[in-house]
Amino acid sequence: MRRVRSPIVRPGTKAILPGRVHPTWHDTQWSIQGDGHQMEFPLRRYESPGAAPVTMVCPVCHSISDGKRWVLDEKEYQRLRRDPKVRVQLCPADTRIQRQMYDGEIVLKGSWMKDHKDELLNFIRNEEQRAMANNPMARLAAVQDREDQIYILTTSQSLARRIGAGLKSAFKGRLTVQRLPYENFTRVRWARD
Ligand SMILES: [Zn+2]
Repeated sequence: MRRVRSPIVRPGTKAILPGRVHPTWHDTQWSIQGDGHQMEFPLRRYESPGAAPVTMVCPVCHSISDGKRWVLDEKEYQRLRRDPKVRVQLCPADTRIQRQMYDGEIVLKGSWMKDHKDELLNFIRNEEQRAMANNPMARLAAVQDREDQIYILTTSQSLARRIGAGLKSAFKGRLTVQRLPYENFTRVRWARD
């Protein structure tokens, strides 16, 4: 397979949050070599998959993987990071954050929301922590406190839906969940006046 080495965000494109930079590194690679590269980041250093060590650690979030799933375990991470046989690699969540690939978006609006921003942000952070107990790859990629709204990007669609449902049941308000099937993206809108 042809491999093209290029920076993650090409020079000249601005890394703007929120939203994607078009075309992303991912989009460019996809058109060149199909989707086989998707879960490889950084580009594979081993000729065959069997030659690569299976145990992996993520240097950013300290999650560890046995090759099947990623879990958070700080103690085990501290032990594994000194082991030369363990492969250091970004986990899928941090890969997505670095490539600016987001799967969900939450927008909070309304006059009531403006007066309760701290409470809502705490709630959302807690909801993320609870979701990470099941799946550490579900993260908030960006949280922005804008004047009249709170804008959040997530690395998984289910986390966006989960936070939306949580806001609705804890604070009432109006909830809209919109799934964009062809983009694998979920838009969540919540408002309370
Ligand atoms: Zn990570």
